[in-house]
Amino acid sequence: MPSSRSIRTSSTGMTLERAPGAGSSGPSSPECVAGVPRTTVVAHAVRGSEVRPAGGAAPGGVRCPLDVPSRAPVGRSTAVSAVRIGSVRMIGATGRRSGQGRAVQPSPTSARYGRSEGVHGSGFGPFSCSTLHRRRTTVKSTRRSLVTLAIAGVTAAAVINGGVPGTAGPAPEVAAAQAGPTYVYKVHAPLGKAAQNLLSRGFDVLEQREGDYLFVLGDSAAGQKLKSEGFTSVIDEVLPAPQWTPPSRKSQQLDAGALEETYYGGYRTVNAQFAHLDAVASQYPNLTQAVDYGDSWKKTQGAGGYDLRAICITKKNAGDCALSSTAPKPRFFVMGQLHARELTTGDVAYRWIDHLTQGYGSDPEVTALLDSTEVWVVPIANPDGVNIVQQGGNTPRFQRKNANTTNGSNCSGTSGSHVGIDLNRNTNSHWGGEGTSAQPCAETYKGPSANSEVETRALQALWRNLYKDRRGTGNTDAAPADTTGVVISMHSYSNLVLFPWGWTTQYKTGNDTALRGMAREMASIAGGWQYGQPGEVLYNASGATDDWVYDDLGVASFVWEIGPGSGSCSGFHPAYSCQASTFWPKVKPMLMYSAKKAANPYGGATPGTCAKATNDGDVNIPDAGAAVSSTINVSGCTGNASATTQVEVHVKHTYRGDLVLDLVAPDGTAYRLKPSNNDSADNIDTTYTVNASTEVRNGAWKLQVQDVYSSDTGYIDSWSLTT
Ligand SMILES: [Zn+2]
Repeated sequence: MPSSRSIRTSSTGMTLERAPGAGSSGPSSPECVAGVPRTTVVAHAVRGSEVRPAGGAAPGGVRCPLDVPSRAPVGRSTAVSAVRIGSVRMIGATGRRSGQGRAVQPSPTSARYGRSEGVHGSGFGPFSCSTLHRRRTTVKSTRRSLVTLAIAGVTAAAVINGGVPGTAGPAPEVAAAQAGPTYVYKVHAPLGKAAQNLLSRGFDVLEQREGDYLFVLGDSAAGQKLKSEGFTSVIDEVLPAPQWTPPSRKSQQLDAGALEETYYGGYRTVNAQFAHLDAVASQYPNLTQAVDYGDSWKKTQGAGGYDLRAICITKKNAGDCALSSTAPKPRFFVMGQLHARELTTGDVAYRWIDHLTQGYGSDPEVTALLDSTEVWVVPIANPDGVNIVQQGGNTPRFQRKNANTTNGSNCSGTSGSHVGIDLNRNTNSHWGGEGTSAQPCAETYKGPSANSEVETRALQALWRNLYKDRRGTGNTDAAPADTTGVVISMHSYSNLVLFPWGWTTQYKTGNDTALRGMAREMASIAGGWQYGQPGEVLYNASGATDDWVYDDLGVASFVWEIGPGSGSCSGFHPAYSCQASTFWPKVKPMLMYSAKKAANPYGGATPGTCAKATNDGDVNIPDAGAAVSSTINVSGCTGNASATTQVEVHVKHTYRGDLVLDLVAPDGTAYRLKPSNNDSADNIDTTYTVNASTEVRNGAWKLQVQDVYSSDTGYIDSWSLTT
């Protein structure tokens, strides 16, 4: 991890620097010195608003390309045909939900460079609306263009309409309290007891660790509380005052206009995400099924809110996308924004949906995946929370929890005190254990009882509809090796891959070897993330959805904490440009790997029978010419190909040493069957064995043949494939 030679940048107009040893115990400690280069902890705040040139340099001189979205609507949706199945409604492929939520217009200023690291924690209070840049780099402060401005006064929070389907909704809970600055405290809390002690006291602990230190968001009172409760902390950063720019209302309908609603440089609103599901379902009826799996808390209260929405994506055959745990294909499930403020996760989900639906039929890897696997996506698992976040417009709020005010309606709204229940602490899997808070205003508030929240219960009902229960109830009971399915809950940030158990490190799960092995692969694909049980690399957390999925069903379950803890794209609210430049290229192959794993995550799924398939059409092989191929389309099989896949080849050709043979898998991977050589005999009548176990069975397989020397000629007579 980076050393303490860190630079923090935020977007208010001030530069703060702390001399070595200064600021060790409270908010009054840091010196505020403008523009003095230091090599120690530095907190910079450059008013980053409005004037960043396109593609311009960040304060630290780091560039991040802009990505102002210009996405055209995928299609226009039409009327709803919804059918309840159990507690879950299926929406017809052309379904459209009635309007909901407040629209937010894209802002010309929002594409500016650099919002990075969010602060874990600050909700929708005035200070929590801050956008900021924290950097954990060792860039010398002298690189910075230091701009010293007075801290902007706190702008009284505006009251705007929000989040109400079809109506002008009630004002959100926007606190207008005037308060002192908000700080990020770096707190000595080594893994284990100290970390759990900190969490249990209701501090807003960020999902980030540097060695023996955790980070806590809070005001000066929080600093005093840390001190009085015996924690050693230093101020790591001072957050800027908010720049309150509420988005303007544009539409309340999930129509073509809703598709284009964005905030903060391109992030889609809840409306846009849900309209996107309808548009995709309308455009790709043979590949998709939109599903309404419940209602958000606000909707249950008649106070606006949203339906809870998912989409199933696969090459649809009979029984596919059914809300039945006996559906024929293995299932890969991924969700975003269970924690509302973790913006990257919703955007990744959006891109994943497009990648699959637009790639089917043209991208061999996508085609093979959707031929064999169901992919389920919940882009926004906590829409009420995201509605609060997006109301910050260009300064998205830091709401983490849902919007349920029943238990904490008097939460102050300043940092560390917010309404809602933490949906990732609310499940009945070891509910109320380590890493949870009983304080209603705390960010890790577990709720009044296990599964108290409608969003929690709706997800559980959906998962039970999608997966069989394959596991016993003991802490070390293993799910059978032939259990299928993978579930990913996307969070941010810290570049971590986590897997159960999250509630303790006292036990490893019964499937630890397989889970850990997959996590290692995911972390490797991501470019060297850390991986482990939460308590091994971050802190224990109980009642999380990923624990629940494994605990209740035995399904392989992971959390990804997407995004670096430092640098230009770190934090909860990275610049939108980071999505295309950084996150999507990294997460896409992680998703693809994980989706393929759904067929056999624990390694013991029976290969099943996949009949031998033959193509006996003749294909001429040009003399010393380009490679030619013959295709076999495999369909109706499940899972991956065998480690002893059989390729039976019959080629008529004189001087067969001229020929190079490859088996090309549906995703384009080539397996060399035979090189060229000096074998002067005629014809090939050979069965080759290939380890194709990382390949999905279904899809277009090719026998590729090239004649690499002149004079002899022939043709592919026939070939057969048994995967
Ligand atoms: Zn999270």
